[in-house]
Amino acid sequence: MGEWKCKKCGYTVKEETPPEECPFCKEKCEFVDVTCYIPDCGKTGSDNRLA
Ligand SMILES: [Zn+2]
Repeated sequence: MGEWKCKKCGYTVKEETPPEECPFCKEKCEFVDVTCYIPDCGKTGSDNRLA
């Protein structure tokens, strides 16, 4: 299970693959893989893709 974050609004979804359409924006947004880069994961390393 991966975690994907909408580049536009920051909405995250937990799916194996990113959704075609952001549930929040209702648009085809670009999603970045934030799996294990989020604080909840327990890892503290920052990822510049989240900036
Ligand atoms: Zn979005």
